[in-house]
Amino acid sequence: MFSALDGEDPITLFSALKTPCYIIDEVQLRKNGEILCKVAENTGCKILLAQKAFSNYNFYPLLAEYLSGTEASGLFEARLGYEEMPDKEVHVFCGAYREDEFDELLQYADHIVFNSPHQLKKFGFSAKEKGKSIGLRINPEFSTQDGHGIYDPCAYGSRLGTTRCQWDTEMTSELVALLDGLHFHTLCEQNADDLVRTVTAVENRFGDILPKMKWLNMGGGHHITRWDYAISLLERCITDVQKKWNVQVYLEPGEAVALNAGYLATRVLDIVQSGDICNAILDVSASCHMPDVIEMPYTPPLYGAMAEKSAHCYRLTCPTCLAGDVIGDYYFGKDLHIGDMLLFGDMAIYSTCKNNTFNGMPLPNIFRLNENRMCRQITDFDYYDFKMRLGSKKYSSSAR
Ligand SMILES: *Cc1c(COP(=O)(O)O)cnc(C)c1O
Repeated sequence: MFSALDGEDPITLFSALKTPCYIIDEVQLRKNGEILCKVAENTGCKILLAQKAFSNYNFYPLLAEYLSGTEASGLFEARLGYEEMPDKEVHVFCGAYREDEFDELLQYADHIVFNSPHQLKKFGFSAKEKGKSIGLRINPEFSTQDGHGIYDPCAYGSRLGTTRCQWDTEMTSELVALLDGLHFHTLCEQNADDLVRTVTAVENRFGDILPKMKWLNMGGGHHITRWDYAISLLERCITDVQKKWNVQVYLEPGEAVALNAGYLATRVLDIVQSGDICNAILDVSASCHMPDVIEMPYTPPLYGAMAEKSAHCYRLTCPTCLAGDVIGDYYFGKDLHIGDMLLFGDMAIYSTCKNNTFNGMPLPNIFRLNENRMCRQITDFDYYDFKMRLGSKKYSSSAR
């Protein structure tokens, strides 16, 4: 379902833009921000932006009005959060930190979450000395996801998070004493009922540890800004947890912060009938510009596409030479023509921060849609954004 842009015809709104391009919608970001801010106000929890889903720092000052800070997956995201959302908290979780980066990381991060007792032992003492708040990611070994195996950190043999068994063999009292908090992240696009069940699993495995902690970070994957999300159940869960163990709760959603807040505009380059299939070849690539369409996989919402089958069915495809670079089959109320603009929805998350220049495809420029519905360009990509990733002038002369 295509949502946002209430009551406007976005094709008219964006008709002057050169495609392909992403458009990020301030109004929708604010709507999401308000929902998240209210949860924080009602419960006393703190909500961070998980930058791996949305790192368009141009919008960090706007988001800072609603959020307590940023969450990073490593050094670069930690630096980005520190630089672009100043005076807010910077939290970092990384599967394994590097020795040659750790000192620099300490300049940016306030909370440092380790993945294993081994990493905690290696880096925790120096981090503590620098006044950082120290956490360990736990694995409650409780899967609530079905379907998307690659997004399940509780899958058998997962490297992510310390299981109770690992805790019991590796956590010395000296290591436990380092800890200020625990962190878990097990959800993906899920509702509050799955969080409640997960918290029970966390209590079953780590209930004896929690009273010694100052904070509990419940990770991301909370689809809080989705229309059917049970916010009151989430708020009750947070309040219960904070009361029961006297901890500060943190949430670090990525998707929920920028849900439905971006569009990817494209135009039809050609129409190719092959057997029964009518392919519309667009000027975007799923593989390059919306990689989760192939990786997850999913079919993104498209403005004007019909929910029911119709006579006008098109397979939306891409100009690259990857045969599987297909966005999906869509139904329309009328025929498509070369030059028509199409608009994909929910394109702010896991898109601009994940795209690439495979096949020499250009990076789509990014536009900022403000509350007066004016579009302002915020990037200036060209040929050199493709070329510079493959070599540097600095080294090229000796190779010739
Ligand atoms: C991916 C991730 C998030 C954000 O997840 P969303 O599904 O985008 O909400 C938060 N914390 C950690 C540790 C993550 O790996």
